[in-house]
Amino acid sequence: MAQEDAAREALTGLVDALDVATIVVDAGDVVVAANAAARELAPALRVGAQLALALRAPQVLDALAPARASTTAQTALWRERGAVERVIAARVAPLASAPGALALTLTDLTEAHRLERMRSDFVANASHELRTPLASLLGFIETLQGPARDDAAARARFLEIMRAQAARMSRLIDDLLSLSRIEQRAHVRPRDAVDLADVARHVVEALGPLAARRGATIALAAEPAVVAGDRDELVRMTENLVENALKYGLDPERGATAVEVGVSAEGRDARLVVRDFGPGVAPEHLPRLTERFYRVDPGKSRAEGGTGLGLALVKHVAARHGGRLTVASRLGEGAAFAVAIPLKTENSGMAPDV
Ligand code: ADP
Repeated sequence: MAQEDAAREALTGLVDALDVATIVVDAGDVVVAANAAARELAPALRVGAQLALALRAPQVLDALAPARASTTAQTALWRERGAVERVIAARVAPLASAPGALALTLTDLTEAHRLERMRSDFVANASHELRTPLASLLGFIETLQGPARDDAAARARFLEIMRAQAARMSRLIDDLLSLSRIEQRAHVRPRDAVDLADVARHVVEALGPLAARRGATIALAAEPAVVAGDRDELVRMTENLVENALKYGLDPERGATAVEVGVSAEGRDARLVVRDFGPGVAPEHLPRLTERFYRVDPGKSRAEGGTGLGLALVKHVAARHGGRLTVASRLGEGAAFAVAIPLKTENSGMAPDV
């Protein structure tokens, strides 16, 4: 008996030491050991109780008998439907040391499945975004080769549309490449000392002509705020926010023609805020704005030459700099996009990534 207790204790110790969710059951499907990772997936697990009481996963329970019968490991996929669907892969292997006993290891694949779905959605969306201007280009080329061959006026008009469509595809590809570059470097923290006030001044100056064409004014209030950064990325991020304010944040009929850009050092953070007084964003859209290709009004975004990737880029640049983007808005009152990035300290960029 003492020997059996010692063996059980050794088994429990071993199972506890594993970071893979592991459950051991005896020949009667009673739980003999279960570690913390397993209890996280099935909180009702109790040593001494039937496995079926805690693990309501028919696919997994159905694999127990075949595993015993065949003496080789069985695998099963368990999909748990709830508010969020969970996908868990189970491996059920007989324990050679104890007849009838089985070791179950469970791997939570929910995140991997989510990423896979995101990846395939992304490819579908990107292809769709490229196909639309491409179809239009092909249509105009055929018209120019056929019916409009000798029509100089139509040719000039079509070429202008074709230029705009090609420019849109080119912008989309630029944004896709930038996103992928930033993602590849997501875990390498940038190190150069970059003053966000300088970045904001540069962007406000560069976008002056666009603002003037739209009858908007950009007011800048900037105090020095130096971060460990990648200047090009920070310029891109700021440009996207100011361009968005000029694209979506103006409402001349209501007198909303101002865009405010502010840079300040607050506590340990450098803060960049871009504020407009336009129509704003309804609360249900706010959490999704940084999703790739998400637009509140797709027609307006396309008409403005938008790719739907601008805010995804902003979010990724902020994250790569250890910062984050927050959006505050009220319908009819405008929107404020704020990025907070830790101020540069002596050893910024030298610390290990977290
Ligand atoms: P794009 O501008 O290319 O469509 P973004 O990712 O930059 O893509 O923005 C996503 C969407 O967020 C826009 O299509 C627009 O609907 C909304 N949006 C962004 N900035 C503002 C703003 N300042 N005011 C209102 N809506 C905005």
